[in-house]
Amino acid sequence: KDFDLNLFLESSAKDGKNGEGRKKKKKSGDDLYINVPIGTIIKDEETGKIVADLSNPGQCELVLLGGKGGRGNCHFATATRQVPRFAESGEKGIEKNFILELKVLADVGLVGFPNVGKSTFLSVVTSATPKIADYHFTTLEPNLGVVKLDSRGESFVVADIPGLIEGASSGAGLGHQFLRHIERTKLLLHVIDASGTEGRNPVEDFNTINNELEKYSPKLAKRKQIIVANKTDVMTDENLYKQLEELAKEKKYEIFKISAVTGMGVKELLLRVSQVLKEIKPELDIIEEERVVYTLEDKNDDFEITIEDGVFIVSGKAIDRLLGRVNMADNESLHYFSKMLNQLGVENKLREMGVKEGDIVKFNDWEFEWFN
Ligand code: GDP
Ligand code: MG
Repeated sequence: KDFDLNLFLESSAKDGKNGEGRKKKKKSGDDLYINVPIGTIIKDEETGKIVADLSNPGQCELVLLGGKGGRGNCHFATATRQVPRFAESGEKGIEKNFILELKVLADVGLVGFPNVGKSTFLSVVTSATPKIADYHFTTLEPNLGVVKLDSRGESFVVADIPGLIEGASSGAGLGHQFLRHIERTKLLLHVIDASGTEGRNPVEDFNTINNELEKYSPKLAKRKQIIVANKTDVMTDENLYKQLEELAKEKKYEIFKISAVTGMGVKELLLRVSQVLKEIKPELDIIEEERVVYTLEDKNDDFEITIEDGVFIVSGKAIDRLLGRVNMADNESLHYFSKMLNQLGVENKLREMGVKEGDIVKFNDWEFEWFN
């Protein structure tokens, strides 16, 4: 709801102001807050790494430091996660491209071949109105529905995605692009046409879909699954169901026999789903592993000091970086430079190496005379 695309189009925070008098502090630039919908993942375009994963209401993450004087600072509505702070005063802003990806946040994902009754199931257990038809891939967009378990007020969200077909993980068919929508679900309902009306083999279907999931994401394939044997109102061959039941027993899956059309077995399944969901820890844990805390690659404290012809030469990433953000012509900036050298341990090191009054200390192209 709060998503404002315009912010992306002109997303730069206002610069800070220069201090007027020597003793006055510089006014910091404004922080830029961008509201995104819950379920937004922010990826570093270059590395593809997840920088922030905004799945909680009010969650706030710092993704990039601002320009001059910028110190990114997030205030939490709920103080759940510590924001990393890497800002230092006087630091230059960094330019980065990010990809914002909105992932559906559902508790339960429906997987299965096209036409097995996933959309029908969603339409009977929730107030969602997905398209239902006899032809494949009627569902072109993921559909979400909220299942409300009466009296107790319990509810969970179910996502229906277009059916998976063989080869989906390598891009064949439409299923592939939708798999990511169920990556964050806690539980998968593997819907299978157990009726044999379309000449399908339930056991083969089950294995095919799981192979696809495995190829797409081994993590997703490991997600808890409950087998939902659908269309049992029109069973043509009881054996097909028996085989599926055998497989479930062998591989230790729970199996529910239902008919989305007549409603047979649906209530029992929903009650079980609600129970299982309570036993599963939050999906965030699964995402957490992939999450990287954003650090500045070049924030490296390394430096080296060598002595050549009596001149102390200080070099290294830390120095390059520091020089990149100081203005030698500006007194305040110089002061900062010296403070940082001290913080980095450069001064101590120089003393250790025997620097004395009047010695020349070189930082890349800059030469300084040492004063005690
Ligand atoms: P999806 O592709 O998995 O979403 O499948 P749909 O929900 O669109 O259903 C495909 C077809 O199967 C439709 O014609 C449904 O009416 C039918 N269908 C779904 N569930 C059942 C069921 O339990 N029994 C019977 N007889 N038909 C069903
Ligand atoms: Mg469908």
